[in-house]
Amino acid sequence: MIAITIDCEQWNAPALRGKKDPSNDNTSYSLDGNEKLLKILDNNKVMATFFVTGFFAEKEGEQIRKIAKKHEIACHGYNHFYRGNENLNLLNDISKAKKILEKTIKRGIIGFRAPQVQFSKELIKILEKLNFKYDSSIHSAWLPGFYNHRDKPLKPFKIGKILEIPASASSKLRLPFSWIFIRNLPLIYSVNIVKRLLKNGIIPVIYLHSWEFYPVKNKSVAGYITRNTGDKFCRKFDKFLRAFKNEKFVTMVGIYRDFKDNQ
Ligand SMILES: [Zn+2]
Repeated sequence: MIAITIDCEQWNAPALRGKKDPSNDNTSYSLDGNEKLLKILDNNKVMATFFVTGFFAEKEGEQIRKIAKKHEIACHGYNHFYRGNENLNLLNDISKAKKILEKTIKRGIIGFRAPQVQFSKELIKILEKLNFKYDSSIHSAWLPGFYNHRDKPLKPFKIGKILEIPASASSKLRLPFSWIFIRNLPLIYSVNIVKRLLKNGIIPVIYLHSWEFYPVKNKSVAGYITRNTGDKFCRKFDKFLRAFKNEKFVTMVGIYRDFKDNQ
């Protein structure tokens, strides 16, 4: 089994790096990217999990309702600015986003992933309070200069009442292989890591962003962030899915239910 997870948000990569840019907070990259992505998922008969911000759902509710017909919708906070944001009120931000998402799709939301995968113990307490069932804010990878989560499990595990379902990294060295890595390195790199995880009985949880399927051109961020976005990435991701056409794809809520049933 493999889980494809998509972070669907307003574009704020320049703001996150302290840059003022007219593109900050636009939803059009993800909106257009989603249309392309949905076709690829459909063609490959793959169900995915979309972690959507409240801000995006507020603006593009119609598309979120469309996505919800075939895929799982989970929560990705409201303002999408978590890293180093001292003004962030975590409880308010998450509860606001959850309410908007539930109103948009008229269904309960049980999953969460923090923007910039900003995991904390405080976060888990808040998720428990707001009745979430699982979290995917730990990326069990070693990303020099950003974080070192080599000590974190690759398989789902309980923290308090919350099931933590980490975003995957390679089995031994804990190299990341999602988004910029799948996009900018030869496809065989990610394919081999996923094959190795499957062999070791681990469900690869792969994470990407809606905006990566749109040809983003932006001078306010480093080239590697936007390189090979758009058609090139669409073709590459399609090839990636076809490499695993005999594998079963699951949503995060599917992983959560399996875990619960096996307790
Ligand atoms: Zn995000």
